[in-house]
Amino acid sequence: MSLKALRTHFTGEINPEADNGQTVTLSGWAHEIRDLGGITFLVLRDRTGRAQVTILKKKVDPELLETVKRMSRESVITVTGTIKAEPKAPNGYELMPESITVVTVAESPLPMDTTGKVDAELDTRLDNRFMDLRREEQTAVFVIRDTVQAAIRDFFRENKFVETTTSKIVAAATEGGTDLFPISYFDREAFLNQSPQLFKQMLMSAGLDRVYEIGPIFRAEEHDTRKHLNEATSIDIEMSFADHEDVMELLENMIVYIYEQVVEKCQKSLAVLEKELQIPKLPFNKYTYEQVLDIINNEIPEIEDKMQFGDDIGTQAEHLFGEYVFNKTGESHYFIIDWPTETKPFYAMPYEDRPEISKSFDMMHRMMELSSGAQRIHQYDLLVERIEAKGLNPDGFDFYLKPFRFGMPPHAGFGVGAERLIMTMLELDNIREAVLFPRDRKRLSP
Ligand code: ATP
Ligand code: MN
Repeated sequence: MSLKALRTHFTGEINPEADNGQTVTLSGWAHEIRDLGGITFLVLRDRTGRAQVTILKKKVDPELLETVKRMSRESVITVTGTIKAEPKAPNGYELMPESITVVTVAESPLPMDTTGKVDAELDTRLDNRFMDLRREEQTAVFVIRDTVQAAIRDFFRENKFVETTTSKIVAAATEGGTDLFPISYFDREAFLNQSPQLFKQMLMSAGLDRVYEIGPIFRAEEHDTRKHLNEATSIDIEMSFADHEDVMELLENMIVYIYEQVVEKCQKSLAVLEKELQIPKLPFNKYTYEQVLDIINNEIPEIEDKMQFGDDIGTQAEHLFGEYVFNKTGESHYFIIDWPTETKPFYAMPYEDRPEISKSFDMMHRMMELSSGAQRIHQYDLLVERIEAKGLNPDGFDFYLKPFRFGMPPHAGFGVGAERLIMTMLELDNIREAVLFPRDRKRLSP
């Protein structure tokens, strides 16, 4: 059977007035079957929405009626019929069927409910993700995610960036951390890469000048939180002849462009999720790390743990500071800049006049960090010094250090977690909602 015979339209593509009286073929799933005696309503669902198929007992072929009677929910079906404008039906039309075919039968009972009438636990939903994704709220998340990723590509191409695909199998840790997944690589040990950081920087020496990558990062962190995954998607960029200020401007413009694109292109999906997006205002507010410390210690009494220079900002402080910024400015997105050099990776550039702080930033959204970035060290000697100061052995970074000896331009960059971007945009409770098949400490399948 060809596509033409199986589907002339998606349900969401039909215009009730313009297409009134036209014969169409729809394919999808039997979402609901309601037998009211003289009349049966069959709801066909596809990616774009639902169509009501109205079966009048007296008017249709007995064989067609029999097919509908025997039909189980969630079976795959094809319906050919004529469009009749009907304001009370979903999408404003009903389909008067000429033929109905069951393409494949779905067993009963179903592993989970798809009508949204019964709330399922996240674990049950993820165990049956193929069926969970049939729910329109879940479909909407991934339709929006598609628009987000397309917007990112548009944005960077427009800004003369080259999309790269770097290796995910590596010999050494990016930052010397222990949060790596070891894998066996022939007769050697290798790791899944935790970040494309080192590759991005090498590509600056290679002269690609501006690169971006949307790809997986792997983190063997053991925590079980709403905002951490063991396999996440990172939107990573690196830019030559630029400093941290330049890439912060690029980052805030990227965020605003993404929001604008979603508002422009995803009204239907946003309506399904009952979300109205507020486009962030430019430029984003900036607080230095030391200002944050001061506010946390003096203006937010609810924060229990007072902070000293060099401390990381804990989860509670992060949340309450995010609220503080929101209440003051009405904005969710903001930057924390000029972090202590010690709290940032070895490649972050210290200020010349105050080397204890670095040209680094985190871009925040109320509840969590969305991005980290910095101007990078491009001087070989300083880089080796910083690697050693972190207690790492420069020998392990030979492949990375070599390009710094043969012409490395000044450069800066950042990484944004794609799932956190979607999660905060759509106010999802759990980051797992923004991933098709999430990987966490306990979940390795599906
Ligand atoms: P956090 O402190 O919140 O765990 P991080 O500082 O370790 O994050 P970075 O190494 O700075 O993370 O990575 C850049 C971005 O990638 C983060 O700001 C975040 O958006 C995303 N990211 C990092 N680790 C994860 C993870 N385990 N799950 C989901 N997203 C992640
Ligand atoms: Mn970070």
